[in-house]
Amino acid sequence: MMSSVIDWTLLAAMPDFATKAVRSPRQVLREVYGYPSFRLKQEAVIQRVLRGGDALVIMPTGGGKSLCYQIPALLREGVAIVVSPLISLMQDQVDALRQLGVQAAYLNSSLTRSEQRRIEERLARGELDLLYVAPERLMTDAFLAQMQGWTIALIAIDEAHCISQWGHDFRPEYLHLADLRQRFPDVPCIAVTATADAPTRRDIQQRLGFADEDLFITGFDRPNIRYTVVVKKNPKQQLLRFLRSEHDGDAGIVYCLSRKKVDDTAAWLREQGIEALPYHAGLSAAERQAHQDRFLREEGLVMVATVAFGMGIDKPNVRFVAHLDVPRSLEAYYQETGRAGRDGLPADAWMTYSLGDVVAMRKMLDDSAAPEAHKWTERHKLNTIVGFCETPRCRRQVLLNYFGEALDAPCGNCDTCLNPVETWDGTEAAQKVMSCIVRTGQRFGTAHLIDVLLGKATDKVRRFRHDRLPTFGVGTELSATEWRSVIRQLVAADLLAVEVDGYGSIKLTEAAVPVLKGAQRVEFRKDPRPVKTKKRATTPAGEAFVPETDADKALFDALRDLRLTLARDQGVPPYVIFHDSTLAAMVQHRPTTPAALRTISGIGQVKLERYGDAFLQVVQAHTASPA
Ligand code: ADP
Ligand code: ZN
Repeated sequence: MMSSVIDWTLLAAMPDFATKAVRSPRQVLREVYGYPSFRLKQEAVIQRVLRGGDALVIMPTGGGKSLCYQIPALLREGVAIVVSPLISLMQDQVDALRQLGVQAAYLNSSLTRSEQRRIEERLARGELDLLYVAPERLMTDAFLAQMQGWTIALIAIDEAHCISQWGHDFRPEYLHLADLRQRFPDVPCIAVTATADAPTRRDIQQRLGFADEDLFITGFDRPNIRYTVVVKKNPKQQLLRFLRSEHDGDAGIVYCLSRKKVDDTAAWLREQGIEALPYHAGLSAAERQAHQDRFLREEGLVMVATVAFGMGIDKPNVRFVAHLDVPRSLEAYYQETGRAGRDGLPADAWMTYSLGDVVAMRKMLDDSAAPEAHKWTERHKLNTIVGFCETPRCRRQVLLNYFGEALDAPCGNCDTCLNPVETWDGTEAAQKVMSCIVRTGQRFGTAHLIDVLLGKATDKVRRFRHDRLPTFGVGTELSATEWRSVIRQLVAADLLAVEVDGYGSIKLTEAAVPVLKGAQRVEFRKDPRPVKTKKRATTPAGEAFVPETDADKALFDALRDLRLTLARDQGVPPYVIFHDSTLAAMVQHRPTTPAALRTISGIGQVKLERYGDAFLQVVQAHTASPA
């Protein structure tokens, strides 16, 4: 238990280490952050950087990447330079560090001249432990010249995938960071990211000149996120039901494909009494900023947004991410849903899905001016997300499998695990649809095909004389909804293809032939009936406590109110004071003394001194006379 992984005698002998008070990483973790133990590979990374080595850290969102460079920054002599692409991210991190009593600052375009000068003076005096900067500033000659005069503890590169042209967020400014390595060859460099498929990862490694043993990679699983996909039927009402039954008063993000839908949905939610704001590239920069600030600083706000929103949002208590439209790939889905539950408490990733969406996206893609090779990749990506939506298997297994990670057993925390889907032998149904498609000339869409199968002599059916076909009326054993589900699943299985001709006409693929000939069987999932989702019986995140009783909820709300007041007074987001999980632990343990409070995860020395009494008083008031 007590054995330290680090050879302290060695470290203490290092000249730069000796001048800072000798503390172990664990001591810093406990005293400064108030966390009892390291997570995942944090300790191994910290150890490597402390020894002067480099590290590329790939951990899922919420995995705790920041600590990997913050703790070495506190232990090594000099200032750590943290390269970060977004102003909002820098502000958040610096706010959070200051709350911990750490000397941190950022330099970016949001500061006035004199504010900048003050920070530069502090740097010259060696007062800062961490400095956050944007890459474009970092690489200016003036800044590089200044840097030569400081002792640099380490260089940390946040969102390191931005350096790779393979990554989805490539930023040209990031390319120059490689030069920085050459200018400061003896300074350890640590690059962190949550997204890195193998090519991106190799690209980062190569550009920064990292060796293979510099790589620290952990699994992608986010066990506290519950995945749910529902078939789209009046999506606004479905969303409202989901919000009211599962996330009353919670903060969350609702993603839509178009700006118009964002505006409509946000306005509609407000009419329903839900505090919701829109966010998309069509709003002015000032509006976007204002909405984002409110989302970060207030409790329980719903942000309805296009994918323009989210990068650099590290609000830990986003309790749900809802998709009203299907994201364009499984990577995008993973990244967007990953913004939920950074704090490790239970969170939901919820999506409504329809074949119409997929057809619309295929059409957008085909109509775009992109090169054919690009379209091919994008089409493939779209197919993987359709496969994810239609799977009768554990969704987490499908998701992780896509990232090359195996999850041995079904997760127990996704809709297909919680309400196992029934499957049925759909070979005959598939053959009926297929022959109907062939006999009508492979040029009609879902609605018409279903009319023919159900024997509905609509005008259109009569006009094309489809009421005389042998397939007319052969499908009355299923309802129109069930036929829609059959067609959707055949498309998902690549047995049928939707033409992007503006009519959504459906054709057979080559793979359909064996099914049509009876040489191959098909299994379908029954669309589960919309069940009232059960309240969570267990907290999948393990140690996480969720207040359930009225008394516990009342205390939790009171603690949240206090946190909000304290945050407003200082102009910082509430979560930099305490996380929800820390408040929940106060409810669970009801500490009565500062010493007891100090044992709660997330309460370090400085926060105990600043806020301990105020929170103890609230706990006491609610514990002495339970309502
Ligand atoms: P990432 O950058 O990987 O998305 P962060 O570094 O922001 O994640 O960490 C997510 C949250 O988890 C932060 O609030 C952080 O303080 C907390 N955290 C990090 N490491 C630990 C730990 N060892 N124990 C408890 N909480 C931790
Ligand atoms: Zn599952």
